[in-house]
Amino acid sequence: MKAAIILVGTELLNGAMVDTNSIYIAEQLNKYGIEIEFKLTVRDIKDEIYKTIDYCKKNVDLIIMSGGLGPTIDDITKEVIASYCGKKLIVEEEELQILKEKFVNVGIPFKNINVKEVEKPEGAISFRNDVGMAPAIYINGIAAFPGVPRELYNMFPKFINWYAKEYDLLQDEIYIKDIITYGIAESLIDEAVRDLFTENGIYYEFLVKDYGILIRMQTTQSNKNKVEKITKKIYNKIGEFIFGEDDDRLETKAVELLRRSQMNFSVAESCTGGMLASTLIGVPGVSDIFKEGIVSYSNEAKIKRLGVKKDTLDIYGAVSEQTAREMVLGLKTDVAISTTGIAGPDGGTKDKPVGLVYIGIRIKDKIYVEKRVFKGDRGRVRKKAVSQALFSLIKILNEDV
Ligand code: ATP
Repeated sequence: MKAAIILVGTELLNGAMVDTNSIYIAEQLNKYGIEIEFKLTVRDIKDEIYKTIDYCKKNVDLIIMSGGLGPTIDDITKEVIASYCGKKLIVEEEELQILKEKFVNVGIPFKNINVKEVEKPEGAISFRNDVGMAPAIYINGIAAFPGVPRELYNMFPKFINWYAKEYDLLQDEIYIKDIITYGIAESLIDEAVRDLFTENGIYYEFLVKDYGILIRMQTTQSNKNKVEKITKKIYNKIGEFIFGEDDDRLETKAVELLRRSQMNFSVAESCTGGMLASTLIGVPGVSDIFKEGIVSYSNEAKIKRLGVKKDTLDIYGAVSEQTAREMVLGLKTDVAISTTGIAGPDGGTKDKPVGLVYIGIRIKDKIYVEKRVFKGDRGRVRKKAVSQALFSLIKILNEDV
């Protein structure tokens, strides 16, 4: 089965808004083996929406639209669908009552203009909107959802469940396995794994994310054991760069390993300024092992809060292996992590360029200090330092503990 996605909204074409809805829709359709032939973005202009629907209708079985279901003058998606299907717009009394109740519940006066939110082409099916006003609708191979992402997330599962039953689509048809690597270039992964994919029907691609590069394998359920065999071979070839699979992330993996080895931890950050602590605190339930995060940005803070020696800072500088080492010694938990670096854009020298970061990791009384030079702007250097610190911690916990 083939599908197309139509994103309606002038704001998506003038640089004001980034489309994220199509990513969600694509992922959901993928689970049912529905192939997306193309996606098109169109302005809030009747003619253009009409032409786009017409083009899609001639090429695919299912059209998913997002945006333009609201009450304002530029919300015209349902009107165009109705005209394309040769239907008039109607309002079902029950849906109007539900909408009016929603206005009462949020304490906003209901106005005539809001009736538009429950208008739909005659014969269309509606999907209840639990988090917003306008329901999603479906008619003649065209489904339309509001542009607001959380409303889409609320109604899309209801739609796809209904649609899958209607058209006998099996969710477990598709099998996807992600292997997540860190610290290895895409070209080297490709070189290492290319020869493993000789079987028909098993596809692979590389997805570059900020937490690493994914090797995504996709096939049908009946080929699952073949993918498992390939997975083992990938581990044999580049296992040192793999930190997890599927929903694993650097921080969840690090916390999982720390918890497994029953060690508590804390962090002392200079250049990452709390980003490492914040990333780790994003893992639910981390409070039982995460003790403290210190942002020791100035030299005084490093001395006062962590006991870094003044001599160390004078002789080697704040961005040095020695300082990173003394920072982790200043924390009293089983495991301690420190970062100190030059995030830029200023402050670099020939010996200590912008992007230079030292990462200290202490596991009980064993200390590891790593020197890295990251490329990119200030934000990127800081993010890279966080990811590298987490990946190095995972590696040490896997290998040495
Ligand atoms: P509303 O009831 O809010 O008018 P709507 O269906 O008319 O809903 P739009 O007006 O098209 O939706 O978009 C509402 C908001 O949803 C936009 O301001 C934008 O923040 C977000 N949005 C729209 N399209 C997308 C998209 N493709 N990806 C991510 N966000 C989007």
